Amino acid sequence: MEVLSLLLLLAMLGLLSTLTGGMREDTRARRRWDARFDFESREVRRTDATGVLMCRSCGSSGSERAGCCPRCGAGL
Ligand SMILES: [Zn+2]
Repeated sequence: MEVLSLLLLLAMLGLLSTLTGGMREDTRARRRWDARFDFESREVRRTDATGVLMCRSCGSSGSERAGCCPRCGAGL
């Protein structure tokens, strides 16, 4: 009976590790998707009709017409 419970425990542990491994794989894929989405949204922002660009140095938004960041002065 003890051997059987030990085997059951080992089987449970194996299943658990498989599940967590699968979850890790899932989060990695989601992170990759997030990165792609972030990149695409940034691409859209660059050609935004409103003319507002996000500064790559400090992250604040400045108008496209000004050409430089109002906070740090870096080129947009
Ligand atoms: Zn800036």
